[in-house]
Amino acid sequence: MKPKVGFMGLGIMGAPMAANILKAGYPLTIYNRTLAKAEPLAKLGAKVAASPKALAQDSQIIIAMVTGPEALYELLFGPEGAAAAFGPEQVFINMSSVSPSFTLELGKELAPTAIRFVDAPVSGTKKPAEDAQLVILAGGNQKRVEELEPLFLTMGKKVIYCGKTGQGSMMKMFINLLLGLMMEGFAESVNFGRLGGLNLETMLEVVSSGAMNAPMFQVKATNIRNKTYPASFPLKHLAKDAKFVLDTAYELGAPVPAGQMLLHLYRLGVAQGWGDEDISAVMKVMEHLSGK
Ligand code: NAP
Repeated sequence: MKPKVGFMGLGIMGAPMAANILKAGYPLTIYNRTLAKAEPLAKLGAKVAASPKALAQDSQIIIAMVTGPEALYELLFGPEGAAAAFGPEQVFINMSSVSPSFTLELGKELAPTAIRFVDAPVSGTKKPAEDAQLVILAGGNQKRVEELEPLFLTMGKKVIYCGKTGQGSMMKMFINLLLGLMMEGFAESVNFGRLGGLNLETMLEVVSSGAMNAPMFQVKATNIRNKTYPASFPLKHLAKDAKFVLDTAYELGAPVPAGQMLLHLYRLGVAQGWGDEDISAVMKVMEHLSGK
């Protein structure tokens, strides 16, 4: 018999992830701050909880996939928060992207409930979430992570065990630093070429013909070509993660000079009102800085 799962946070990522858990036959209870987003899943058979606490009372495994620390605190410790119903027989999995130090802090705050805690953020964006092709970056007790693998594989193609609690979050910061740098580097280079009179399609052909080709460049080039940036991974979330990377780098004494610039550039995008657009809208930041 499959365990009862409770899923909190039905945004760009959470909605398809929860849908895939339901499709795999797990009994699913859902909660989202904005109730309307729960309707499509309710129609597919998910039970809608009136509060995070009600969700936790009804679930053996509780998953959160929300923006970050503020949202997690609200859902766990706010009015009718889930943590009030947590106990030793349950597992809580945070799949939201947060810093490793936040994960460790959260682990300490949950310790009095005796719930078993796993940090398991994901690599992959909206389409891989819809296609159950995410890569799950899991931290915590290894045996527990292995036990959870069938559930993780309803959402993803692979589970990578990253180490003790907090290391899933650390891996997520690692991959998002690289993602942010690659996206910014691509936009900066394409804008440079554009101002030098190069044609976008010819630049893309050169990139795709050599060793620097990356599937991400081809996907994001579509947005640049169409000059529309529908959010797959919202730019504001990368700005959030760039801050977590810098905080973590400061704690570790790790040099991240380009990471510093990333925070500045993605924040500039947010300040320009492009935070809800895709990370590829960093192209608009480049055009804005060019003045033409
Ligand atoms: P999203 O579409 O912006 O959804 C955010 C979710 O968090 C929504 O369910 C939202 O509820 C909830 N939320 C925000 N603030 C809240 C609060 N104060 N109290 C309760 N709920 C709150 O974000 P997303 O793209 O799905 O991303 C979710 C997480 O996955 C983030 O940590 C992100 O960095 C990470 N991630 C995203 C991608 C991607 O490509 N999008 C890829 C990998 C990882 P409402 O619906 O009520 O606003």
